[in-house]
Amino acid sequence: MKSIDDYAPVAGEDVIDHLRQISAPLKGLKVVHVNSTKVGGGVAEILDRIVPLMQELGIDTRWEVIKGEETFYECTKSFHNALQGQFASVSDSLLKTYERTNQENAEALRPVLEEADVVFIHDPQPLQLLKSTPNRRGKWLWRCHIDLSHPYRPIWKYLREFARGYDASIFSLADFAQPLPHTQYLVPPSIDPLSDKNIELTPRMIRETQDQFYIDPERPMILQVSRFDRFKDPVGVIRAYRLAKRFSPGLQLVLAGGGASDDPEGNIVLNEVREEANDDPDIRILLLPSDAHRSINALQRAATFIIQKSIKEGFGLTVTEGLWKGKPVIGGDTGGIRLQIIDHHTGFLVSTPEGAALRIRYLMRQPGKAQEMAIKGKEFVRQNFLITRHLREYLSIMVAIIHGHEDRVEF
Ligand code: UDP
Repeated sequence: MKSIDDYAPVAGEDVIDHLRQISAPLKGLKVVHVNSTKVGGGVAEILDRIVPLMQELGIDTRWEVIKGEETFYECTKSFHNALQGQFASVSDSLLKTYERTNQENAEALRPVLEEADVVFIHDPQPLQLLKSTPNRRGKWLWRCHIDLSHPYRPIWKYLREFARGYDASIFSLADFAQPLPHTQYLVPPSIDPLSDKNIELTPRMIRETQDQFYIDPERPMILQVSRFDRFKDPVGVIRAYRLAKRFSPGLQLVLAGGGASDDPEGNIVLNEVREEANDDPDIRILLLPSDAHRSINALQRAATFIIQKSIKEGFGLTVTEGLWKGKPVIGGDTGGIRLQIIDHHTGFLVSTPEGAALRIRYLMRQPGKAQEMAIKGKEFVRQNFLITRHLREYLSIMVAIIHGHEDRVEF
């Protein structure tokens, strides 16, 4: 188990001291994070690390996962798509399932939720727990990770009513903030540099992964790691690869994904991807178990370039992970990817398969420029997107929301 001090060599001693200072007035506090999946996707990835770190700082922190039947996830997936701007029609019966599931989970979690000093509700799935916890005593924060910049209005109108009751909300970037009658904080997500997903690997480990997945180490490889989700545009990635292959015939493409247990659409998109790949022997579609962190790490390190051609993206941890591994990253010009890829400096932003293919060609022909971008990208992540910064901001928000009315706070 890693200790908070282990982060000092990567993030800096001062950063760790600062965390201890800010957490001092929060010691013994009861904090609960609630989301809808233990594995798969960025939210679970972050909670898996941030919860033990909060515990180590003396905050009594728990992580609860709500449970629901298939129709509940069908409904929340439609919410997710709608909040990211797609038209969605959600039947009354699905809305009833959503409300009932939240009510049942609120009942199951009642003592924990009522006693908590601070509750972080992640994303729309458990948003309604607040309504079903009338005797809460703590402060409740809605932590929205998705791209809410242009939501499909009818669905947002429905969900907004539940969001309004929170004491504050947290969005990943300013573009996602919405008119709500409480304070809104902006906190971008982060990666854990010491997790299996991000730790340094030996060349041998990387080579073993290449062998395992039949990737030729002598030829260039582009990689997209993503759930099979249309917003991640895996089909667009295959099109970009095909265009790029015209001038780089040895190019290989790896699409590595798996399912999140709260994402029912994965198989449909996976079939679309297989159809588009059309048995191309240089395209590997890898379905990895949700705990295949080392394999993903090795694939990212084995890649020549990382691509994340999303058309909507709350943040895009896969971009952060790629930059941290010193790889030039080509990302969709959208949402949180824009926060990480400073076009032409830490990577390239693209909007079409053609644009992505042009950038692949450029990077192949300009290895010096690719290397320069990689160095800048890694430093940019070190300064802005490590878990220590994320934790510091969560702690600061907790201090603000709990002690905000006091004349002074002792650190
Ligand atoms: N991931 C994974 N296995 C997969 C697909 C994704 O471990 O098959 C991880 C990926 O490395 C990243 C996270 O899940 O850490 C995805 O986060 P991101 O913000 O990129 O997208 P989200 O899935 O939350 O939309």
